[in-house]
Amino acid sequence: AYVITQPCIAEKSGECVSICPVDCIEAGEDQFFINPDSCIDCGACVAACPVNAIVEENDLEPAQEVFLEKAESFFD
Ligand code: SF4
Repeated sequence: AYVITQPCIAEKSGECVSICPVDCIEAGEDQFFINPDSCIDCGACVAACPVNAIVEENDLEPAQEVFLEKAESFFD
């Protein structure tokens, strides 16, 4: 799954939402979240993000892992 990370906080442009073919991106309080259980790994949202906040989960830096956990709790 893809994960929305730190740069989304404050930016929160939401341009990824309408581009996702499976509608798995939703607005949280401080950032948007990708539902890791519904994401089909198409990568379309990556280019739509103006601040390069979207990272494939296997490419997350250790400090970014918290954003996958945050997304999982959001959709719990
Ligand atoms: Fe949606 Fe594709 Fe982005 Fe996953 S990678 S959140 S399916 S646009």
